[in-house]
Amino acid sequence: MALRLWARGFSSAPAAAAASSLLRSDGYIGGRWVGAATTFPVLEPASGAELRRVADCGPAECRQAVSAAASAFGSWKEAPAKERSALLRKWHDLMIQNKDDLANIITAENGKPLQEALREVLYSAGFVEWFSEEARHIYGDVISSPMRDRRILVLKQPVGVAGIITPWNFPSAMITRKVGAALAAGCTVVVKPAEDTPLSALALAELADQAGIPAGVYNVVPCSREKTPSVGEVLCTDPLVAKISFTGSTATGKILLRQAASTVKRVSMELGGNAPFIVFDSADIDRAVAGALASKYRNSGQTCVCTNRFLVQKGVHDAFVKRFAEAIQRELRVGSGFQEDTTQGPLINEKAVEKVERHVSDAVSKGARIVTGGKRHSFGKNFFEPTLLSEVTTDMLCTQEETFGPLAPVLKFDTEEEAVAIANSTNVGLAGYFYSQDPAQIWRVAERLEVGMVGINEGLLSSVECPFGGVKQSGLGREGSKYGIDEYLEIKYVCYGSL
Ligand code: NAP
Repeated sequence: MALRLWARGFSSAPAAAAASSLLRSDGYIGGRWVGAATTFPVLEPASGAELRRVADCGPAECRQAVSAAASAFGSWKEAPAKERSALLRKWHDLMIQNKDDLANIITAENGKPLQEALREVLYSAGFVEWFSEEARHIYGDVISSPMRDRRILVLKQPVGVAGIITPWNFPSAMITRKVGAALAAGCTVVVKPAEDTPLSALALAELADQAGIPAGVYNVVPCSREKTPSVGEVLCTDPLVAKISFTGSTATGKILLRQAASTVKRVSMELGGNAPFIVFDSADIDRAVAGALASKYRNSGQTCVCTNRFLVQKGVHDAFVKRFAEAIQRELRVGSGFQEDTTQGPLINEKAVEKVERHVSDAVSKGARIVTGGKRHSFGKNFFEPTLLSEVTTDMLCTQEETFGPLAPVLKFDTEEEAVAIANSTNVGLAGYFYSQDPAQIWRVAERLEVGMVGINEGLLSSVECPFGGVKQSGLGREGSKYGIDEYLEIKYVCYGSL
């Protein structure tokens, strides 16, 4: 009850008091909380209620943040890696100490169920912990020289100020996956969070401050959707910014790439996907159903690695569809993220609900059959029923675009070649999943899928230790893992001659 009260008004409940020190409304620039001329509302997706008004930072505040980050870069990059590592570790520890409050903030502004929000906080803190360790493992090289009188060295140095633009679907983890690596490498950052979810980014700033991360190293400029293009343009064109790291849609990624070209910035792009989930005749159907449920309906279908298309071989098709529908009806509960038994929170906003609705009606008009769900959920205007469609074909919108909602379309196929061809017939390639118990088929399909990440007999594949990223128009670069820090490092070749 306390959580629900808090979510409605951020007031009166004991949980509100507990969380209040992490709830900030201003931008965080150069170690100070900075207001703006106007504010914008942050809405609770579950109820539509206004949670808080936040400073609407514009290009001027963004330039101020860039300049603060540029000033801080000089001393942050010179700090011994061990010091940067210790500060990141402290930031991580504070996240863990405050995990319940951070999870409450995520559920309030994003809508995902509290248990899922808590898992996001642990995942998010995990990136800070991982990169606190990686900070001390940045090694150069000594290369054997072709000349007697020369020595060849390779140094790895931080890129500089990084502009970080993040989405609303993981309001905390999408920030730390980038910022952890950037700070570990010796870069400073300016973060522009999504309009829908700035409170998590500001809560992280509060904890960074408490951890003693020096002023100007982590800056946050929250802004409304109206101001986003102009703030994004400052980050992408200001010569003081050396690197842009973005997570979001492919369409926005292309705008940022064009803008960043004007000053030839380094870029990392984590963009949209259209993940196939293939179930072959040899699959263990119960495991495939469990994987399908996890991969499709986590965060109400709003993750970039969510399955977007189920391809099921004809020998197991009917059994899979039947058991998948039963599992959806048995295991998924729609409601507010603050209710204990909820597994499916709201979608982020009405536009997102309209997209799911459009995909369902387009599919049905072209011959798809609704097995379960299919319409808005009576719990509230941003809620949609977990939906399963069969008799889906490749001319339907739901197979061509990311639905980003709780819609599972199932296509039937005959042969492995056909399934791989359908899976690859898209201009994006982030994650792909398949279920098979045939070892030769497992190798063939893993190698042939045109994606950056493959789940074999597994529907959830993200972890801080593993490289996250896509091929084709799903992006550039990798985050997390031992590779993630390279996105924030330059290689400098040093030739030492006349020896
Ligand atoms: P989006 O519209 O591209 O927004 C993402 C971020 O970009 C937000 O902060 C947004 O600000 C900002 N933005 C939008 N237009 C901009 C512009 N012209 N200049 C600068 N910034 C701009 O994406 P979304 O719909 O919120 O997020 C869902 C998409 O993200 C999906 O396609 C999903 O697959 C992808 N995603 C990818 C990954 C990955 O790791 N590959 C992870 C999560 C999500 P506002 O909020 O103010 O619009």
